[in-house]
Amino acid sequence: MLNLVIFGAPGSGKGTQSERLISKYGLHHISTGEVLRKHIAEKTELGKIADTYISKGQLIPDDLMVRVLEHVLDSEPELVKKGVIFDGFPRTIEQAKALKKMLESRNTKIHAVIGLEVDDDELVRRMLNRGKETGRADDNIDTIKNRLEVYHTQTSPLREYYQGEGKYHSIDGSGDINGIFERIHKSLTERVPELTEYNPDND
Ligand code: AMP
Repeated sequence: MLNLVIFGAPGSGKGTQSERLISKYGLHHISTGEVLRKHIAEKTELGKIADTYISKGQLIPDDLMVRVLEHVLDSEPELVKKGVIFDGFPRTIEQAKALKKMLESRNTKIHAVIGLEVDDDELVRRMLNRGKETGRADDNIDTIKNRLEVYHTQTSPLREYYQGEGKYHSIDGSGDINGIFERIHKSLTERVPELTEYNPDND
């Protein structure tokens, strides 16, 4: 079993690199942004609440977000048995502490945090492109600016939090997608013993 967090600013390539990690290591993917966008599309109560925050580029409050994740883990227990890539969660120290407890109570933990480092100009460029290509509603310039501000104030302190736990892998997230993945794979192979022992077919 191997649990990873993919961490970085909006537009840093978390979703793209998650896909690579999934096909390489056979993990499950939990993207809290995708969970919320599905609720919005289905017009659920949660979707209506989430939309008011997402459209402004703000974070969903911690207590609600933790309950959403807890629900995902409870409704699909096989996820944690095999191993998960957490994408977009945690986004605050509060959420990181809650995740630790959630995994401890399921006899597991986060093994490594992959931090994709990309400068703000590049992030804005990528998100504007994605907005044009996919029509994603929060990829517009005003919301992007708020999301970056929220990232720098509320989310980036997690870097130190996970450095303190010895789990943070700082990865240059700029340039070619394959090159970025190679850097991630190298860093994990060198520093995460569970990775070499991990065989998805045995779990
Ligand atoms: P993402 O797809 O990860 O970029 O998330 C899109 C939006 O969903 C974010 O800008 C937040 O408004 C909301 N969101 C996703 N994950 C979280 C989280 N862990 N905590 C709070 N809000 C979140």
